[in-house]
Amino acid sequence: MLIARTDWDVPKHKGISFFFLPMDQPGVEIRPLRQITNESHFNEVFFTDALVPAENLLARPGDGWRVLNTALAYERSMMGEAARGPRSGVKEATNEEPLIALAREAGRLSDPTLRQDIAQAIAYKKLNALNTERAKADLEQGTSSSIMSLGKLAMSRILHEEARVRTAILGAESLFEGEQFPRAEDANFLSLNAYFTSIGGGTDQIQRNIIGERVLGLPKEPEVDKTVPFRDVRTS
Ligand SMILES: Cc1cc2nc3c(=O)[nH]c(=O)nc-3n(C[C@H](O)[C@H](O)[C@H](O)COP(=O)(O)OP(=O)(O)OC[C@H]3O[C@@H](n4cnc5c(N)ncnc54)[C@H](O)[C@@H]3O)c2cc1C
Repeated sequence: MLIARTDWDVPKHKGISFFFLPMDQPGVEIRPLRQITNESHFNEVFFTDALVPAENLLARPGDGWRVLNTALAYERSMMGEAARGPRSGVKEATNEEPLIALAREAGRLSDPTLRQDIAQAIAYKKLNALNTERAKADLEQGTSSSIMSLGKLAMSRILHEEARVRTAILGAESLFEGEQFPRAEDANFLSLNAYFTSIGGGTDQIQRNIIGERVLGLPKEPEVDKTVPFRDVRTS
């Protein structure tokens, strides 16, 4: 998907077009990014005189922001619903909630503070699953997809919280690294990977803006460049 500015003389949300760009051609340079987790699942992609056939335009020229928002709503709904598990690939032995299983294994299941934290994390997760069902039902009725932002924001909070509780359960053990310490590796990987959901697909702050403006109907913040042709928007 290539979202490109095709008209510089209209305000910023207009003049963007949505294309399906053939990647297998000269002028498309893919540079892998190294993530904080030391993985490399994403790239920065540079286009130099690359070509896209006119029939690969989706929707009208200049209408790409609207198309992109639909694509983003689906991405956010997926990110709000599912999370990556630990990297170690160790299968959970039971159907028990992973945090409860970890606390049991670490002999810390009777710690009252941890119990409270675990209960809180599980409650967030259950509540988010119910919200996702509501969002899906809304989508089937053809109503606004802005509610997807709630699930994505909630999932971001859940992932950070679960990683924090995992680390608290392990205590000093979480400082270790290496294959012989899979529980610490999992906790550290999940702590770092949680930022994926709070940045990718639109940051937590952007989701809050969307929820405030499009779900709760709060007044928008002043936008001095909303009606200014993109060419004239101040960039420095
Ligand atoms: C793991 C990962 C994978 C990704 N994969 C892809 C991909 O496949 N394709 C792709 O195109 N992009 C991808 N991205 C990029 C991602 O979409 C952007 O990083 C994200 O939308 C944030 O934009 P930005 O980095 O430009 O931050 P900026 O928009 O520059 O934001 C910087 C900071 O300012 C805050 N901020 C910005 N605007 C506002 C506002 N209006 N109100 C309040 N706060 C604001 C943000 O919350 C943030 O804290 C990926 C990012 C990550 C981390």
